[in-house]
Amino acid sequence: MIVDKPFYSDGLKFECQRCSFCCRHEPGYVFLSETDLMEMVKELGMKRESFIDKYCTWVDIGFFKRLSLIEKENNDCIFWSEGGCAVYKARPLQCRSYPFWSHVVENSGTWLEESKSCPGIGKGEVHSAEEIEEWLQKRLNDPLINS
Ligand code: SF4
Ligand code: SF4
Repeated sequence: MIVDKPFYSDGLKFECQRCSFCCRHEPGYVFLSETDLMEMVKELGMKRESFIDKYCTWVDIGFFKRLSLIEKENNDCIFWSEGGCAVYKARPLQCRSYPFWSHVVENSGTWLEESKSCPGIGKGEVHSAEEIEEWLQKRLNDPLINS
């Protein structure tokens, strides 16, 4: 069987320009895995349930609900401050792996579309196909919390 090579088989250029757009200004979700949750719980010295009560919400996505960080009234992530991400060392996989998300690297069109929201896409160093696949695999290995 011939398997098509992914469009990123020669790697993709990305270098964060630190514009902070992916952390703020627009409504969105930061979905969490159990690992993400426990890393932040540990970082902030809180109890799991207190962290969920204070910083999370359940998002209805059809057949089930998914745990996400909440946002401030201005749509900034609850952990964004002028100094940057307040949980940077323990930030969730969704944040660490951006922009190498499955629906973003699906094809050249989805990658191009995402570049409209992220000025780092198409700039800087080339990230190899192996690295991109590692990020995709990490997401598969670290499922999101649903209820
Ligand atoms: S939108 Fe892109 S360039 Fe801006 S902070 Fe996020 S990852 Fe970096
Ligand atoms: S957790 Fe940190 S890196 Fe992730 S969206 Fe919030 S402020 Fe940005």
